[in-house]
Amino acid sequence: TGKIEFRNVSFRYPGAAENALKELSFTINPGEHVALLGPVGSGKSTIARLVLGLYPADDGLVMVDGTDVRQLDPVALRRNIGAALQESVLFSGSVRENIALADRTIDDPELIRVAQISGTHQFLGQIANGYDLRLADRGEGLSGGQGQSIAIARALAGNPPFLVLDEPTSAMDTQTEDALIQRLQAEAASTKLIVITHRPSMLKLVRRIIIVEGGRIVADGPRDEILKRITRSKAA
Ligand code: ADP
Ligand code: MG
Repeated sequence: TGKIEFRNVSFRYPGAAENALKELSFTINPGEHVALLGPVGSGKSTIARLVLGLYPADDGLVMVDGTDVRQLDPVALRRNIGAALQESVLFSGSVRENIALADRTIDDPELIRVAQISGTHQFLGQIANGYDLRLADRGEGLSGGQGQSIAIARALAGNPPFLVLDEPTSAMDTQTEDALIQRLQAEAASTKLIVITHRPSMLKLVRRIIIVEGGRIVADGPRDEILKRITRSKAA
């Protein structure tokens, strides 16, 4: 239920010439909804990966609830942080398996609840065997937006206290996205949320914006204040 803290975090991908994150620090407190914005390649997805413990920091500390992520049980971490990453991975298996993964605590009502919020339920309704529909490898046969919707359902499943969504709607049309945002607004009320996005409409979900550039934080503050600053610098 606690907070997420980056303390002077530096990180370089194996073999890369430059650090993807450079002495980056921020804290996300319980109840906060935050958007990460910034140009392509600025390090946003890398931050999400480090929060999930997918890579260790080279320098500095990534802390969840006051504990170094490296000391947390990865399974417990995954259960508490629902994530839809940019390269959301669907595997060959049924839609049901893709949403629940190996988690047996996700029963049918929970499956349908998250499928409704994410919009999966709505498009499955048009398909004969619905949740038992078998996906080909990597979700082939679905549209990009449908794949994203399943990834979002997976992130929501089990009602984790923390959500990390990385460009979750990039392949959706605006109508589908708007409906999703409305449903997410109700859902997100009870969780913490980090959303990485290029879509202005997604900013409805947050109160705070952090802007990342070249692996550093260049702005961090209340949403409307940061948006005003962006508009002003664009106009200048
Ligand atoms: P963003 O999500 O803001 O577009 P990323 O966090 O994906 O940016 O990438 C930050 C930097 O790290 C970029 O320079 C990118 O090329 C590099 N990078 C990202 N993923 C990898 C990887 N798997 N291996 C090597 N370099 C990577
Ligand atoms: Mg990214």
